[in-house]
Amino acid sequence: MRVVQKFGGSSVADAASIKRVAARIVDTHEQGHDVCVIVSAMGDTTDDLLDLARQVSPQPRPRELDMLLTAGERMSAALLAMAINDLGYTARSFTGSQAGVITTEAHGDARIIDITPGRIETALEDGDIVIVAGFQGVSQTTKDVTTLGRGASDTTAVALAGALKASYCEIYSDVDGIFSADPRIVPEAQRIPEISYDEMLEMAANGAKILHLRCVEYARRENVPVHVRSSFSNKPGTWVIDMSSKEGQAMEAEAALITGVAHDRSEAKITVVGVPDAIGNAAKIFQAVADAGINIDMIVQNVSVEGNTTAISFTLPQNDGPKAMAALATVQDEIGFDEALFNDQVGKVSVIGVGMRSHPGVSARTFTAIAEAGINISMISTSEIRISVVVPIDDVDRAVRAAHSAFGLDGSGEAVVYAGTGR
Ligand code: ASP
Ligand code: MG
Repeated sequence: MRVVQKFGGSSVADAASIKRVAARIVDTHEQGHDVCVIVSAMGDTTDDLLDLARQVSPQPRPRELDMLLTAGERMSAALLAMAINDLGYTARSFTGSQAGVITTEAHGDARIIDITPGRIETALEDGDIVIVAGFQGVSQTTKDVTTLGRGASDTTAVALAGALKASYCEIYSDVDGIFSADPRIVPEAQRIPEISYDEMLEMAANGAKILHLRCVEYARRENVPVHVRSSFSNKPGTWVIDMSSKEGQAMEAEAALITGVAHDRSEAKITVVGVPDAIGNAAKIFQAVADAGINIDMIVQNVSVEGNTTAISFTLPQNDGPKAMAALATVQDEIGFDEALFNDQVGKVSVIGVGMRSHPGVSARTFTAIAEAGINISMISTSEIRISVVVPIDDVDRAVRAAHSAFGLDGSGEAVVYAGTGR
């Protein structure tokens, strides 16, 4: 069998950890599998390198920043290969570029266009253990080294698993899997043994930080089973799989209505007040925001009682706040709205589960639970398998706990061991 394993930064934080992971990789190889390993940078290396860059230059050129950051993964890849070699096995490390990870030229946020894993295939056929530096590739056009965004070693791993037609991809960190809510907020949260790609996408897109969003998109597209687990134990973790298969349907029938509750504190809300109630004003507002390259999430429009102006609210990533406010200022006179208000003291809580496709009443139950906790909801959005609400940031934890209990997700006393960072 061909297996891809990815080890996050906490699993390779120091020399001892690297040796421990090396032994684990050798075990898998000893079971007769071809092993391709993807590594993150050691511990906090990426943050440390970013700090260092800012000390040298306040606004480093993105090209040079990528040259710098890719060094982190290169270090851990080489060290891991050395440790494996010392256990008597042949391991070869490769940069993303050598591994054939071809990307767009967007430094810091490049997308994988293609994988040409010729050298990896050859090394695996030679019986070698392959180690690939995660989170990086090479631009098809400029031939410069690129990075794929924070946390993107997950994406490297799943993309390579797809290209190598691996049987599955294991993502190792310091947590035991995907939980029904963040155990730091809900101590009764339970490990989810199996979750569908669709649910995992919603979890990742709505604040669950355990898997990189694009990694889940890739896994679904290429149908790669992903096993999220801890490198500090041998416990089974969470399988992210295609549950539309027959076994999947049987499981769904037995499964709870809601699979998990996610939360996100990284969004902000902008409210544009006194918007003249005329055709085309919403279009103008959102065109201005789109032209600034900002992805918005929820939208709510209130028609005022007097009937001649409206207020339009939307959520967006907090970091994009200043850009969005600047973009709105450029169209204020043309549209004639009164003002735009920025509020970053909000959070989003989402209940997610394929079960809600076929069961009515999930919205009512969610809103009731949050109301009974005395929390005011300011915005609502839904998908086929998700209901999200925006609440004051200080109420996020209580809203998560209320929703988690309302859907019977609380575990029965069994303590969850969770000390991890999820890296
Ligand atoms: N080292 C990179 C980061 O911290 C990539 C990764 O770990 O996935 O974002
Ligand atoms: Mg991660």
